Amino acid sequence: GRGPYDPQNVFAKILRGEIPCRRVFENEYALAFHDIAPQAPVHVLVIPKGPYVSFADFSQTAGEAEIAGFTRAVGHVAALLGLEDSGYRLLANMGVTAGQEVPHFHVHLFGGAALGPMLH
Ligand code: 5GP
Repeated sequence: GRGPYDPQNVFAKILRGEIPCRRVFENEYALAFHDIAPQAPVHVLVIPKGPYVSFADFSQTAGEAEIAGFTRAVGHVAALLGLEDSGYRLLANMGVTAGQEVPHFHVHLFGGAALGPMLH
């Protein structure tokens, strides 16, 4: 990853309940909530509860139960929101090149309308 995890990042505060969020789903390993600045009719963020900056951090250092719990949460949220038939997009930005704003690994879930070739 790119340096140590910053426990003061905004998603860490959401996980600690210090900042409110519009929660969609939560399990032992993941939290899903609506993005504060939606870029599609449905724009949900799914985050692991552990302190991972990047996908490399998450995929290489999280335990198998956490990887499974997070992955299942992403799929469950898509189904919960009724997007399995209409379709949706998953996207994760990592680092400077992708313009990652929040240094806590997260997956964007976009849906609810025809999506253009890219969203970020
Ligand atoms: P990134 O560019 O890091 O992939 O995306 C970060 C996302 O987090 C952005 O889409 C941004 O709108 C969202 N975001 C930033 N701060 C907050 C917040 O306090 N609450 C919620 N719900 N979303 C946030």
